[in-house]
Amino acid sequence: MTKKKIYSLDKNYSADIFFKRPDKYKEIEIISSKFENIITMGSCNSYTPASFRKNALSIQLTKFNRIIEFDKSQKLITVEAGIMLSDLFNFTLARGLWVPQIPGYPTITIGGAIASNSHGKSCGFHGTIKKQIKRIKIFHKLHGWLNLSNEENKDIFDLTIGGLGLTGSIVEVQLRLEELSGNNFVTKIIETDSSNDTVKKINFDVKKETYCYSWNRSDSFKNFGKGFVFQNELNISSNNKLTKNIKLNNSDINKNFIINFWNKYSVFFAQSVYQNYFKFLKSKQHEESFQKAIFPFIGKEFYFKLFGKKGFLESQIIVPFDKTEVFIDEVETIFKKHDPLITLYSLKNFKGEQKNLQFENDGICFTFDFVKNSKNLFFMDELDKICEKHLLTPSIIKDSRLKLETIEKCYKDLNRFKEEINKFDNKRIYKSTLTDKLMI
Ligand SMILES: Cc1cc2nc3c(=O)[nH]c(=O)nc-3n(C[C@H](O)[C@H](O)[C@H](O)COP(=O)(O)OP(=O)(O)OC[C@H]3O[C@@H](n4cnc5c(N)ncnc54)[C@H](O)[C@@H]3O)c2cc1C
Repeated sequence: MTKKKIYSLDKNYSADIFFKRPDKYKEIEIISSKFENIITMGSCNSYTPASFRKNALSIQLTKFNRIIEFDKSQKLITVEAGIMLSDLFNFTLARGLWVPQIPGYPTITIGGAIASNSHGKSCGFHGTIKKQIKRIKIFHKLHGWLNLSNEENKDIFDLTIGGLGLTGSIVEVQLRLEELSGNNFVTKIIETDSSNDTVKKINFDVKKETYCYSWNRSDSFKNFGKGFVFQNELNISSNNKLTKNIKLNNSDINKNFIINFWNKYSVFFAQSVYQNYFKFLKSKQHEESFQKAIFPFIGKEFYFKLFGKKGFLESQIIVPFDKTEVFIDEVETIFKKHDPLITLYSLKNFKGEQKNLQFENDGICFTFDFVKNSKNLFFMDELDKICEKHLLTPSIIKDSRLKLETIEKCYKDLNRFKEEINKFDNKRIYKSTLTDKLMI
């Protein structure tokens, strides 16, 4: 058992915690019996303080990374929950199979992806990871080992997916795999001249398996929303054997430079260079490797480091299709008034039904990254008001600043989720700094 100081990826929270990285099933039982407050940790890649809490035990499960069973004919795989996406995919991709609803960074664990009900680039088509989960085995200090599925302990199964680790440690998972045809992707680049134009071009044919997202300028009111839609489609015809192996970068995504490099001038410069590169130099249709299309942050970890020790903030909001115009209009109004410093602005399609604390809904998902300063915090408060007014879905796992008040208004199931967690875990053993904020 060690004591250590730990930080959320966005650097807005830190805590001194007790930390253990067990490698035996029995060890999970023994260490869990010694602590009153526990939370399970994957790779601690979350922007928010979701897998730690002051003076509580974080059980990191990254040594639980084995593949237990693989059934090619049924397209089923059983893995330990601490397996990183890169290790899982290096096994399945060689067999032409994968899970499409995975988040965009390869060191994230399957346990972390399930506890946050993750989505990928094709969420307008594939929805979230909950569709792929057949069975989960958890360990809970009060209940011991439990099998969860639609047939067994269904209520706890539902609470566990997107449940932020509150039902105990996910130790094993059985996943349904999907076929991946083609060796790489064909990426089409479509220019857009505003946020509304981007919505039109991104919300195209969700019946088709397309991996689609946008990059939009945010450096000034004049440029706000100009950019590109990137449409990745599987390149079925390609004989070009590009590697499907995921290669990790040695860069530690959790480490930052000391000072912040992002300001009005550097954001303007970076966005101008990026836009001109895609407008004038890059061909409008090109082949892209699996790794580049699905894990675009590999090799670009410096983006997070550039925020320095003070860190950054991210707001991710799902807006139903019929509200996108009014949302964009209101965001542009507050942008003009407050002139925030936004380093990244991006849109993607979303499909799903919100339940418990799961981040999903039908609509367009807007993402904004901010430098942490008082002007931006004020702008984000204004964004919250827009969310509350239109009952939009802001992401709890991404935005560490998001207030309980906003979550209460936008997540209709919050109180029922709390009651069910309290019923299951009446001593409230599993908690994190993030779930303290939610008063669960
Ligand atoms: C660069 C980057 C890109 C991202 N892109 C996306 C994206 O495209 N889509 C998306 O949905 N998300 C995205 N995310 C967010 C990410 O998917 C979640 O934050 C995820 O939970 C991180 O997993 P982790 O293994 O690091 O877990 P941690 O950060 O350690 O934990 C996250 C949560 O999961 C719980 N948890 C972890 N392991 C277990 C377990 N075995 N049993 C029970 N609970 C557990 C923790 O208690 C905590 O509540 C991205 C994050 C990064 C850093």
